[in-house]
Amino acid sequence: MIRVFNTLSRTKEDFVPVRENKVGMYLCGPTVYKPSHIGHMVGPVIFDTIKKYLVYSGYDVTFVVNITDVDDKLIQESNRRGLPMAEIAREMTEDYWSNLSAMGVDSIDKFPKATEYINDIIRFTQDLIDKGYAYESNGDVYFKVEKFEGYGKLSNRTLDQMLGEGGGTADRKSSSFDFALWKSAKPGEPSWDSPWGKGRPGWHIECSVMSCSLLGETFDIHGGGLDLQFPHHENEIAQSEARHGKPMAKYWMHNGLMQASSEIGKLGGRKTHAAAPKEGDLASQEGGKISKSKGASAFRDMLKTISPERIRFFLLSTHYRRPIDYSLERLAEVGKGLETFYRFFQRFERVTKRDFYTVPFPKTRVEGDAFIAQTAALKGSLGQAICAEREKFLAAMDDDFNTGKGIGILFDMLRALNRFIEERKLETEPTADGMEELTAAVSLFREVTAVLGLFLKKIEEPKAETADDSLSDALMAILIELRQSAKKNKDYATADRIRDALTPLGIKIEDRPTGPVWSRVKQ
Ligand SMILES: [Zn+2]
Repeated sequence: MIRVFNTLSRTKEDFVPVRENKVGMYLCGPTVYKPSHIGHMVGPVIFDTIKKYLVYSGYDVTFVVNITDVDDKLIQESNRRGLPMAEIAREMTEDYWSNLSAMGVDSIDKFPKATEYINDIIRFTQDLIDKGYAYESNGDVYFKVEKFEGYGKLSNRTLDQMLGEGGGTADRKSSSFDFALWKSAKPGEPSWDSPWGKGRPGWHIECSVMSCSLLGETFDIHGGGLDLQFPHHENEIAQSEARHGKPMAKYWMHNGLMQASSEIGKLGGRKTHAAAPKEGDLASQEGGKISKSKGASAFRDMLKTISPERIRFFLLSTHYRRPIDYSLERLAEVGKGLETFYRFFQRFERVTKRDFYTVPFPKTRVEGDAFIAQTAALKGSLGQAICAEREKFLAAMDDDFNTGKGIGILFDMLRALNRFIEERKLETEPTADGMEELTAAVSLFREVTAVLGLFLKKIEEPKAETADDSLSDALMAILIELRQSAKKNKDYATADRIRDALTPLGIKIEDRPTGPVWSRVKQ
């Protein structure tokens, strides 16, 4: 039985889906106005793994992640860059998708965009007005928070403990707690016709509308970062439950946030990172949260020096409800841990003359159990040890998806596999029995690592940056600055000369909307 920590009840509950064997899962996605940074990958990697585990456990899962493609930040960015909002949203959605794909996040079934649901959003908002939960004011529509009983039940707050948004719209609201469902458009802003005049949807209503359209009025799992608990998720619940009169989602799951840290945790993490968090641990996480404003670099640049598998391994080494301490030291340490796996894969190939990545493995728990029952080679000491570790792994995953503990168990499996090769001297005196037992054990190892989305295909670790590269970076920064100031002074001859002189060196400068960037051209 899978158990899930439900933020609503603040306890672990047995996982029983609303509809037998079917699971609907919704995760709040990004506002696509800037390139993704590593913080944007945390939720998708965690919930992709949760979906993989549910599918492995026999459930039929529909996984939805929304894309917010209309929003204040997008409008600001559109003005700053002098490009249509839709153009920026398209570019940044592409960036997000390509990063997800690099990370092996391949289980998301639908990416609804807010702008594709405007009619549904208007209808939903009108229903809330008709039911007395919302009101129009000067072209805006607000949700009447005090009318909804149970507001604050997710984040465990009372109205006294909340502060209203205030700001420029304060005088249009009848209470400072109220939040916008529909915002009237200022001149020049992107807008849609509505019964309340030209405007655009608020952020919270999007998720209520799209989750209902795609997953139904009550679905199983609603996920998101801890920082979304209040007010975003509280508002989603108020909107959906006011309209439908039934629970919006059965299980609310919140992942810890990534925070910058110099702390060097112990890899595999069972001692420092895998323990489930204590209640109350979570409230303080928001402070150190990684965000673009704190200088996190674009994720696609990060992938030039760090393999996506290393990042995935790193993200899953921590219990999903704990904060993730991000530091280059931690990533380097994770890299060393991963190397021990890669070395074993090569060793396996030397012994068996077989590529690790081609060894077939069971795709579901039922298949895995049947494989164990049918495979005589697993009756030996290695097979028994790996079967026992597999049981422990599945117990950890059943217990609120404890991937941190699961990764610790992978290291134990690895030790057992290596010990077997040494004790049986398989590298020097291979035997058919020994190789058969080893290969069967590797099938089970692959079964559990596939659940985490790890070791599915061979990954080349990008070359680490060398001292030479950082010198090049510094020199190029100087040249780019010189070229920019030449262009500013309309000295195009000098600007062109700098660019042309770099061409034979295999260096290209591109003028992007965000500023010039340089790259090496493959020769
Ligand atoms: Zn949402």
